[in-house]
Amino acid sequence: MRLSRFHLATLKEVPADAEIVSHRLMLRAGMIRKLAAGIYTWLPLGLRVLRKVEAIVRDEMNRAGALEVLASMVVPAELWQESGRYNKYGPELLRLKDRHQRDFVLGPTHEEVITDLVRRDIRSYRQLPINFYQIQTKFRDEIRPRFGVMRGREFLMKDSYSFHLDADDLEREYQNMRETYKRIFTRVGVDFRIVKADTGAIGGDRSEEFQVLAQSGEDQLAVSDTSDYAANIEVAETGPAAARAAAKSTLAKVATPTQKTCEEVAALLDIPLATTLKLIVVKASEGDGDLVALAVRGDHTLNAVKAAKHPRVASPMTLATEAEIRGAFGCEPGFLGPVGAKIPVIADYAADALADFVCGANEAGFHLTGANWVRDAAAPATADLRNAVEGDASPDGHGKLRLVRGIEVGQIFQNGPLYTKALGVTVLDEAGKELTPTAGCYGIGVTRTVAAVIEQCHDDAGIVWPDAIAPWRVAICMINPKNDAKVNAAADSLYAELTARGIDTALDDRGLRPGAMFADIELIGIPHRIVVSERGLAAGTFEYRARGETENRQLNHEQLLELLA
Ligand code: ATP
Ligand code: MG
Repeated sequence: MRLSRFHLATLKEVPADAEIVSHRLMLRAGMIRKLAAGIYTWLPLGLRVLRKVEAIVRDEMNRAGALEVLASMVVPAELWQESGRYNKYGPELLRLKDRHQRDFVLGPTHEEVITDLVRRDIRSYRQLPINFYQIQTKFRDEIRPRFGVMRGREFLMKDSYSFHLDADDLEREYQNMRETYKRIFTRVGVDFRIVKADTGAIGGDRSEEFQVLAQSGEDQLAVSDTSDYAANIEVAETGPAAARAAAKSTLAKVATPTQKTCEEVAALLDIPLATTLKLIVVKASEGDGDLVALAVRGDHTLNAVKAAKHPRVASPMTLATEAEIRGAFGCEPGFLGPVGAKIPVIADYAADALADFVCGANEAGFHLTGANWVRDAAAPATADLRNAVEGDASPDGHGKLRLVRGIEVGQIFQNGPLYTKALGVTVLDEAGKELTPTAGCYGIGVTRTVAAVIEQCHDDAGIVWPDAIAPWRVAICMINPKNDAKVNAAADSLYAELTARGIDTALDDRGLRPGAMFADIELIGIPHRIVVSERGLAAGTFEYRARGETENRQLNHEQLLELLA
């Protein structure tokens, strides 16, 4: 590509509303432009990168034996009603009507559509297993679109869905996809971790996420410092703590007139936060009374994903209203405790292990000190309800947990027969008997992957693309203020030669001053820069610099080709 004919739309100023580096650099490099909240236009430069990621994904999916399809983004609402997700998915699902007032949704994911395809097209066990994939636009009406394409409302996803006769075959394909994803992200050139994950809105029983480690990541991950244990904090287990100590103190009521949080009470009484206990009141699951109180140590935080999985807690976890709390405790939130509580209490293991703790007195303006389970408050049911913290024992028994941040670029699930059952998919087995296939689904955020790579690969001057997804691998920068025909010819001939060798090359023939030209080429992250100038030609060399290095190298023609090959 000759840059004089390209729309290279770099910006000097740092966009004010872009909070993270990838968003800033994608705008500054001229990769994307915002159209509306969470909705972007990909400019020619950005699209070159997006298409390269897409090509790697497609190549590896094909190699893995998956079959490409392309479904519509607009999906009849009936399919979502059939699966039961039309109401369950909530306001992230964009609903629309056609001119006949028929209901449609914009697909945020395509389990229903592909399961319906299988219902219509697959009749016999001989046609299984099968794995359909697509690289297609998804729409999720995210409550807080942010960080550019990292959390957009419209984005490109590779989604695939596999169907099997039995669980063993699903497990085989799940491993096939896991290996495929490893190859994809390795080829893209990004540093990633595979972590245990919650199955969330997709549903099912086994799942892992592919996470790009980056400070700006929205996901918190717990990783062992000695083993390969790694889990999203949503599912990182915290085990039963050491046995509870014997009670030593007597129960006493203390005035805490304005102190409502554990932090405030601990500061007032000058005690460690870890000796306080808080109650979080949530709605109970249907048919189990109205409310349940969840007890967590003051220095710990409640894990809503774990809580929602508890059989006595409504899913998704829903906090009780202030009126409901007053009704159950006869007191305002901020002064609640298990002593005398009239609703069931479920304690996190670490909260259950407390002795002589401090908690609310169920009376506005007062807390209790020296409280003890059994003696003062009924022994609670126990469960793993909290978020893991730095230094917790790793659940696999090896080492301690560290907390790191990650960007979820992919997730794989074993849904089991969840959707095939809901949509009534059956195939005939060898004996001619009807059988419900079991299924897996596998997603990659193609647009998010582009942003995630930038979070990991950048410096003060701009993006530092890995070769595999750079908009061009090589930039030839022409310095020719006198418009010397020899310099023009040398740059043209090198450009033609590299292009002929299949090396994706940009020729910067825009006639900019060297400083401005180099700044652009660094900003847009081209891995290899070659300068063609009158001086170099006289010496028979090209000036070469790798992106991310600070030294130039003078190479002759042969050395240059060798290096780029
Ligand atoms: P998140 O937890 O980040 O909201 P998710 O778990 O809901 O994502 P999946 O349903 O697993 O997402 O979708 C598959 C992939 O699509 C994700 O791994 C992610 O890379 C990408 N993705 C999901 N939501 C968005 C979004 N709003 N913008 C860009 N990419 C997204
Ligand atoms: Mg996910």
